Amino acid sequence: MSAKQQRETTVDAVIVGAGFSGLYLLHRFRKLGLTTRVLERGGGVGGTWYWNRYPGARCDVESMQYSYSFDEELQQEWHWPEKFSAQPDILAYANHVADRFDLRKDIDFDVEVKAAHFNEATRRWRIETDKGEKITAQFFVMATGCISTAQTPNIEGLDNYQGNTYHTGSWPHEKVDFTGQRIAVIGTGSSGIQAIPVLAEEAAHVTVFQRTPNYSIPSQNEPMTSDYEASWKEKYPALREEMRYTGHGSMKDLNDKPAMSVDEEERQDTYEKRWEIGGAGFLASFNDLLFSQESNDTASEFVRNQIRRIVKDPETAELLAPKTYPIGTKRICIDSGYFQTYNRENVDLVDISEKPIERITREGLVANGREFEFDSIVFATGFDAMTGTLFNVDIRGRNDLALKEKWYAGPRTYLGLMSEAFPNLFMITGPGSPSVKSNMLVSIEQHVDFVTESIIHMREHGLELMEPDVAAEDDWVDHVQEAANKTLFPRANSWYMGANIPGKPRLFMPYIGGVGTYRRICEEVVADNYKGFRFEAEAAAAAAE
Ligand code: NAP
Repeated sequence: MSAKQQRETTVDAVIVGAGFSGLYLLHRFRKLGLTTRVLERGGGVGGTWYWNRYPGARCDVESMQYSYSFDEELQQEWHWPEKFSAQPDILAYANHVADRFDLRKDIDFDVEVKAAHFNEATRRWRIETDKGEKITAQFFVMATGCISTAQTPNIEGLDNYQGNTYHTGSWPHEKVDFTGQRIAVIGTGSSGIQAIPVLAEEAAHVTVFQRTPNYSIPSQNEPMTSDYEASWKEKYPALREEMRYTGHGSMKDLNDKPAMSVDEEERQDTYEKRWEIGGAGFLASFNDLLFSQESNDTASEFVRNQIRRIVKDPETAELLAPKTYPIGTKRICIDSGYFQTYNRENVDLVDISEKPIERITREGLVANGREFEFDSIVFATGFDAMTGTLFNVDIRGRNDLALKEKWYAGPRTYLGLMSEAFPNLFMITGPGSPSVKSNMLVSIEQHVDFVTESIIHMREHGLELMEPDVAAEDDWVDHVQEAANKTLFPRANSWYMGANIPGKPRLFMPYIGGVGTYRRICEEVVADNYKGFRFEAEAAAAAAE
């Protein structure tokens, strides 16, 4: 047994995860004087960007906006080489932040948290790791990200397959050489759409198995120009502040007109221009694309026509053109030459929308009654998003209530930050907050600041425990659904709706009311003496009363 296994440690705070949330939390907690341990499953910092190393992995929020704003020197000194950053550059940035703020000494790597139980008598969390260590902490923060539990479908025969299998969400660290290989890619979400063009350049042959086609907009990525970089750096504090009160936490230049308020020529012209600019700003072409089916139809049809224009084989083009859900209601994809890839001789598309892959064989797989042979299979099949990673830890609150049990019909949070019966358990970008419907860095910073300031408030007022009121939580859960029901989002079988995981409750998990609106709500909650939260005084103080 190692020293750590025998040790029972007590700290003020345990943070799970050393991605962008965990790193900034640690920085803030340390400044507050909290003794803090960060426990990280991976061998390094970076979270999503540590795990998702697949060829072509890239962020689709612009680099100048997908970065921390909390330190002026940091944002001035860092140089991003491209407009949209590739995974290695974002991972290098996360490592730079860890070094610059000397964070590593409080992070344990290769440690998985197995359980976290709240003890009502001691009013502390007791956290257990896979290394047998037990840690007692007043505050317990799940900074585990929204899309961090990779999902490999349970297809019959997978164990018998003799070739190599990969999942985009847990890609090997060493370079995988696909030269000369026949490979299968299963899944055409953001990850598949980014990986397929790069894999097609290297492999002898790529067969893509598509269950649902996706709308994708070209990124029009380019090297960072010094003028563009300077235009942000000169006004960084003001621009960052503006971003915090936008709809999605990023500058997207929303056209304030509804799509049907302009004539057909202006509409097409607008879409053309947005397509040329590239990126997710396409969805901001008009202000009602995610609210009006009629308006959305015009944008969806524009993209379908772009696909028909790019892809030479009309049958393949039709298969690639999404028709079963409105554009934007599944996460919009941003690509670099995705549709063009299907014009290559070495790429085939197999439609599995009617019948799932039948089975995996020793040499490949069977789909649509046909046998395929592959040297490797790449699963780009997504994640058990929003709740999967929280449920991987046996989290129990008051009366031994399991989080999984409380949330059996869907996540129940107040503001996506806390859940009643789980005192002092905070979630960073939890379900019920803008999270995945926003620039994650903006939402992460806001939640980390909220949590830190809540702890400051508690310390200043002799308070030991913080927890939402059940009524406030119930109202918030309803509000999250009401906000979603005003949009077209519930019309798609997306991972936002839990629809990609068999048996998962079907409801919209993030808060779609807008980053700025949400931020104002949080500000009002604090200004109103943390309305909707209740606190308990420190045990000693309470006893003396
Ligand atoms: P995803 O969007 O959930 O896509 C998974 C794909 O696999 C879908 O096409 C899905 O089909 C398919 N699939 C799942 N199970 C299958 C099965 N049993 N048989 C056949 N096909 C199956 O996952 P992702 O592409 O990894 O992306 C997840 C999220 O991560 C994105 O939406 C985005 O938020 C984030 N991400 C961002 C970036 C970026 O910043 N550029 C890059 C990658 C990922 P169905 O659609 O029919 O379910």
